[in-house]
Amino acid sequence: MRIHHKLDLNQRKVQKTSKQVANERPYLVDASHLYVIDTVDAVGHRHNPGAVLVQVVDGLQFHIREFAHLAVRIGGIADAVKPEIKKETPVYILRACEVSFPVMRKSQNPYTQSFVSLSIACLLSMLLSCGLIASAQAPATDSPQIEARAHALVAKLTLEQKIELLGGVDHMFTHAVPAIDLPRFKMSDASVGVRTWGPTTAYAGGAALAATWDRSFARRLGESLGRDARARSVNFLLGPGVNIARSPLNGRNFEYLSEDPFLNAALAVPYIEGVQSQGVVATVKHFALNNQEFNRHNASSDVDERTMREIYFPAFEAAVTQGHVDAVMDSYNLVNGDHATQNEFLNLKVLKGEWGFQGILMSDWDATYDGVAAANNGLDLEMPNARFMTAKVLLAAVKAGTVKESTIDDKVLRLLRTELRYGFLDRPQFDPADSTYSVADRAVALEGALESITLLKNEGHALPLDPAKVKTIAVIGPNAWPAVTGGGGSSEAQAFEPVSILTGIANLAGPNIRVLYDRGLPDTIEVFRKTKWSGGVMAATYPSKDFTGAPETATPENIANFKPEWRGPEDKTPRSIRYTTSFKAAKAGKYLILSAASGSDSYKVLVDGNLVLAHPRAEGQNSKYAAIDLKAGQTVSVVAEYLPGFAGNRFGLGMASESDLISGEAKQFAAAADVVVIAAGFTARTESEGQDRAFALPWGQDALIDTITKINPHTIVTLSGGVGTDTGRWLAQVPALLQIYYPGQEGGTAVAEVLFGKHNPEGKLPVSFDRSWEENPSAPYYYPIKGADTKLHVIEEGKPPVDYVIPHVKYDDGLMVGYRYWTTTGKHPLFPFGFGLSYTSFSFANLQAPATAASGSTISVSFDVTNTGSVAGAEVAQLYVSDPSSTVKRPERELKGFEKVRLAPGETKHVTINLDARAFSYWDATAHKWTIDPGKFVVLAGDSSENTPLHADLTLN
Ligand code: BGC
Repeated sequence: MRIHHKLDLNQRKVQKTSKQVANERPYLVDASHLYVIDTVDAVGHRHNPGAVLVQVVDGLQFHIREFAHLAVRIGGIADAVKPEIKKETPVYILRACEVSFPVMRKSQNPYTQSFVSLSIACLLSMLLSCGLIASAQAPATDSPQIEARAHALVAKLTLEQKIELLGGVDHMFTHAVPAIDLPRFKMSDASVGVRTWGPTTAYAGGAALAATWDRSFARRLGESLGRDARARSVNFLLGPGVNIARSPLNGRNFEYLSEDPFLNAALAVPYIEGVQSQGVVATVKHFALNNQEFNRHNASSDVDERTMREIYFPAFEAAVTQGHVDAVMDSYNLVNGDHATQNEFLNLKVLKGEWGFQGILMSDWDATYDGVAAANNGLDLEMPNARFMTAKVLLAAVKAGTVKESTIDDKVLRLLRTELRYGFLDRPQFDPADSTYSVADRAVALEGALESITLLKNEGHALPLDPAKVKTIAVIGPNAWPAVTGGGGSSEAQAFEPVSILTGIANLAGPNIRVLYDRGLPDTIEVFRKTKWSGGVMAATYPSKDFTGAPETATPENIANFKPEWRGPEDKTPRSIRYTTSFKAAKAGKYLILSAASGSDSYKVLVDGNLVLAHPRAEGQNSKYAAIDLKAGQTVSVVAEYLPGFAGNRFGLGMASESDLISGEAKQFAAAADVVVIAAGFTARTESEGQDRAFALPWGQDALIDTITKINPHTIVTLSGGVGTDTGRWLAQVPALLQIYYPGQEGGTAVAEVLFGKHNPEGKLPVSFDRSWEENPSAPYYYPIKGADTKLHVIEEGKPPVDYVIPHVKYDDGLMVGYRYWTTTGKHPLFPFGFGLSYTSFSFANLQAPATAASGSTISVSFDVTNTGSVAGAEVAQLYVSDPSSTVKRPERELKGFEKVRLAPGETKHVTINLDARAFSYWDATAHKWTIDPGKFVVLAGDSSENTPLHADLTLN
């Protein structure tokens, strides 16, 4: 092992040293120096720099992580360091014990095989000698001792120091106060993996977790995330996200759970308990009503109270009252005209008042708009840093009496109380027993993928495939390779070893089955580059934002400046660019015109003067496309007007005949194969935070599936994506369809196991799948109401005031979200909520429920589920409650219980579900409370929201 540099803790500067420690030999850890260790270990293995950072360097230094990052940069493995922590940060040294490493004597100890084990030995030894070994995991409950300690700490702080604590630092940390030995604490995003600090295990999270309908899996997932957090010294995990999937367009549905509040609550609670059992704070987000990503900072979700209480709040409520979550994150959007971060109703009345939330309420990143209003309306921590709850603003407010010092104290106490309860001030968060890369976590990742994959169609028993009969499989499609593990945005985790669908199938198929692969479609940038515009392109760059002034002109061959990064430095020079060109159709048929730009750019594209594509200024961007029918030889004029939001030019435009897009190889392979698997759907680029998603599949995929199924009818389609998509053009042609959501790093293995019947599919849809966007119940109400905009005047310290336009999104679909709408109207979606096929069959029988019961009592309902087929499988027994005699209009049925049952062939299990008072209640909008109307109820049991073969009447007195 080589040691390159050492850091002098006292002088806080880097010294070079030529000292080398020979392989296989123990070394002395000097009491006052930190070492940068090479990523190559004693036996010559190169370790992943991220893992080294976390396991060794960060571990050795534990609470003084700043040094770790600095040290790592010097050590030349800067790639391991996330951009957020590139800049140098001050160092806070806690206690002598934590900075002075005990000297390890040269010894015969065996921990010299690899530098990792050596380091762990050092660390253990250090921790033991300091009495700091991290054994207590779960947080302590609040106690008089903790309260006394928290108050004593607050008493030592000046008002400025207290205010400082109300803002984060360096993107992902709480503030430190060296004067009271309070270090800063680390955060990480967590929707599908502990993402912020290097590569990780990427799980089937969000919508995929919901598709498992498995509470015990949610608990295991939470525990794994918690352990993984400890392995990186992370104190706060920024998850789970529990917002309702109201519309298929919301770009973040994949990160959230389902369309149903009961299912979301049922899974959020064990997830939170799992995370927190490891001594890591979970953060339920985004409170509340973040159901669209367009204009997410400015749009107001305008919703009546009953709808909030019955649909949009229950998962948050359960997270607080049952899961005892210790942090909540407010959402970007406004709710009924007030930003969530300063929303009295959300934060003070409901969260901290009625639900009794005692933990930390933090903002989403840059979701605060008014320091005084946020301070007075419940926000405890402004993330990622104090822009509004600043010392200047709050000191003046306290002086003027507009914010009480006791209000500031309450926030500081919440932070300290939580940190003390978790032991953050008393033990290192780094736990040497945990590892950022763990085989056990891979097993959890595989389990999640296997449990979530949902078989939606299986005509003529197309699946499972018989390995004895299949000689050649063609794996085709843009999502076949590389692996598509998750959607985009702040949840995007870099998996250590993601398994693609192609490699998963090839691994399982083994040497006797030939696996052919082709992407099937070119990638977006290829289309931009290869488009043959007729008569050349004229690019005119105007010195203004409105195409006025004398332009500079150029004649590029193509319009191909698009780069996939969605952010960049702001464009400070006024510019607008107009492209003018034309396109000649070589043959008759359908042509796709495809465009893409980067976040905050905007553009429109006109063909023969007609607007075909438009992208308003937004936070993120998907590629967009439109289909146009052209005659052979027809020439159309094409004009694109592009307004860059970021410096540089990131615009791309291309045009191609749809039939030419599909590669010749894909067609040949499909013809030669016994079976074709098309891996289609969305990716982190096309379904992401910060932008809404299209209902249609990304460009070219409909044509690909259509073309390939016509060549080989034995074609199975797998779809990645958080929620439903348009399958109308080809669904009737494919015998089998699998919804795989974002299955995490083991997705490819799981898909292969399901295809070959090694695993019997058991996922159930967490959302109803619509045929078209228009038939979704939210469609008429999804976009802001025209003319209802209001203005928000925002003053940020040191900046000129800004007026924001607030569009209002009125949730007039009310309670009729997803299956509530379908079952109430008696119409049927394409695939219902709760639906999913299996390779076996199940029957439901013997429903037992009391005929009458006292209103408000807990009622037990039970029934049998039998595996009537010939293979083992899992069924999700679902229990819905209907209230036909209600005095107010209620959804026809609502999910109030479920149980996942694993059954051997022929086996029967008796499922018992207890229904509490809430299962029968609605929110009385006049009395402002949960109410049960006595009278007739019906309980319905079955395997989806539409198939409930068992039902019984029940009268509540
Ligand atoms: C997201 C949050 C996330 C935060 C930190 C924000 O953009 O909305 O969900 O936790 O970034 O990455």
